[in-house]
Amino acid sequence: MSETRQPLVVGNWKMHGSHAVNEQLLEALKSAGPLPAEAAVCVPFPYLAQVAERLARSPIGWGAQDVSVHAQGAYTGEVSAAMLADFGSRYVIVGHSERRQYHAESDTLVADKAKAALAKGITPIVCVGETLAQREAGETEAVVKRQLSAVIHALAHCVSEMVVAYEPVWAIGTGLTATPEQAQAVHALLRAQLAAASPRAAQMKLLYGGSVKPDNAKILFAQADIDGGLIGGASLKAEDFLAICRAA
Ligand code: PGA
Repeated sequence: MSETRQPLVVGNWKMHGSHAVNEQLLEALKSAGPLPAEAAVCVPFPYLAQVAERLARSPIGWGAQDVSVHAQGAYTGEVSAAMLADFGSRYVIVGHSERRQYHAESDTLVADKAKAALAKGITPIVCVGETLAQREAGETEAVVKRQLSAVIHALAHCVSEMVVAYEPVWAIGTGLTATPEQAQAVHALLRAQLAAASPRAAQMKLLYGGSVKPDNAKILFAQADIDGGLIGGASLKAEDFLAICRAA
């Protein structure tokens, strides 16, 4: 992590939570006191109102896990960036591997979602990452470059306003974490690719995600180009999530 970039730790709740369970988690996060990292939670759509109310006047940000490319209209089941902005969302995750995999989201669609979010002042957290088969075939670099390139192309002069999360698919929810060296190597590649597109690449936040836990966060976040994390499972327990924020 560079001295000049403020670390960011984002919880991705995925499809977890209930009104009652969230109350406890949010209360614990709110009462944690100052953290060395900026913290945020990305929650299922129905709970945006709850986090907006509970986290108002707290330093913890919030957002969603997906957004429509459309502004409004006959798109049953979709949620627009303007709607997320209505709930005070600061962030939205786009291109998570679970969306790419289970909902066949293409690089172009992901890029258009990032663009739609930025148009409403919401920072997209753009996820990229290779599968195990791709890593084993030596395709990691080509895959993440292709995924990022689509977003760079779509955002043009706004590239530096996104956050990028490198999440190797084989490390998500599996307990397998990329080694700090493996993660740093990909982060360095991504930053070089961003630098070719934006003079502000050195200020951009690049997060690592994939089985980040309190006991491996520090060493991952100590890498030169890792500026924090996107945290799935461990973000559901206040104690673990706060420990990860404190490791930043
Ligand atoms: P995990 O998930 O921390 O549970 O591996 C990370 C993610 O999918 O964002």
